[in-house]
Amino acid sequence: MSNTPELIMPVAPAGINTSRLEGPLSTDRLSDAIVAVLGVGGSMTKLESLARCGVRRFKLCDFDVVEPTNVARQGHEAIGQLKVEAAAHRLKQINSSVEVTTVPLDCTTLSDEEAARIFSDAHLIIVTVDRFTADAWANQLALRLQVPTMWIGVYGGAGGAEIVFWHPGLESCFRCVMEHRYRLQHEASENGVSLDPASDGTLFQDIMIVDGIAGHIALGLLTRGEDNYFGRLIDELGDRQFLQMKLRHDWLLRGQDPVRHVLGISNENDSYFCWNTIARRNGPMAGPCPDCEALRGHRFEEQVDDDGRKHFVRILPETDALDVVRTIPGDAQVVPTTVEDETDSEPDSVSL
Ligand SMILES: [Zn+2]
Repeated sequence: MSNTPELIMPVAPAGINTSRLEGPLSTDRLSDAIVAVLGVGGSMTKLESLARCGVRRFKLCDFDVVEPTNVARQGHEAIGQLKVEAAAHRLKQINSSVEVTTVPLDCTTLSDEEAARIFSDAHLIIVTVDRFTADAWANQLALRLQVPTMWIGVYGGAGGAEIVFWHPGLESCFRCVMEHRYRLQHEASENGVSLDPASDGTLFQDIMIVDGIAGHIALGLLTRGEDNYFGRLIDELGDRQFLQMKLRHDWLLRGQDPVRHVLGISNENDSYFCWNTIARRNGPMAGPCPDCEALRGHRFEEQVDDDGRKHFVRILPETDALDVVRTIPGDAQVVPTTVEDETDSEPDSVSL
């Protein structure tokens, strides 16, 4: 008789006990929600944390396989396996009742009809693809399907990161918020240049910082309208739909520390270091948004302010349903907050 102890493989429970999360979070809403993810590479910790909160239904879109370098940065271990398969396996280890639809394709190759068939029942789309063309594709998908969507990325060099979110109650879409980046990307592509930065230097720790904040936004979007902390979070943010995080204390954008600048922190304040987040509104628009025009029927009129500066104001169609909220059982309609403010700078390109 062997005296080797018998190895007992733990079996993930069917379902997950989220009873100790109740209070700030409506976990029953999450068990009915469908979360779609474009780009599974840098999303593993996000997906895991959502599964631990009770999300059971995922649609994962990524054509990549796990490379040896992904083990160090992205939370994957199964080298050579499709990332969507590796992620599905990991999620089922957390909760065996998790259902995963894998889409091992480049999302941007899907036709509008194919994309609608796959993603139209999603309650949230998370975009973590390291290509601007995929971000832009996802914006049109979000507007066409009216699905709340968030874009997450780390800036080149990992000094900072950003999250942009949109839901049908918000006027500005991703393209409205990022109109400066769209312009730069367009100019670069005309010259045959890519502005998509390499993600070298981004640590797993960096991704976890960003994912913790992105996870809060995701929970807010998925449970919006509930009478608790996360149910109120998105409407308390209102149109502050562009978050920037400072990951490294020496991070600068065009020679300036955007967090110090936006928060008005003096150079003498030595409590300020890094790991802070700012939530920014979209500023005056320099031009019309072609996506909001084509897919939402919005119009833009040029106006000149008292200082002679030109900007564009949005005219909503009479039938616009800005306050239609994507329905998850128990959802409520919420009127978004709008407050005047200015956003004076745009970020560099991002990647994960
Ligand atoms: Zn727009």
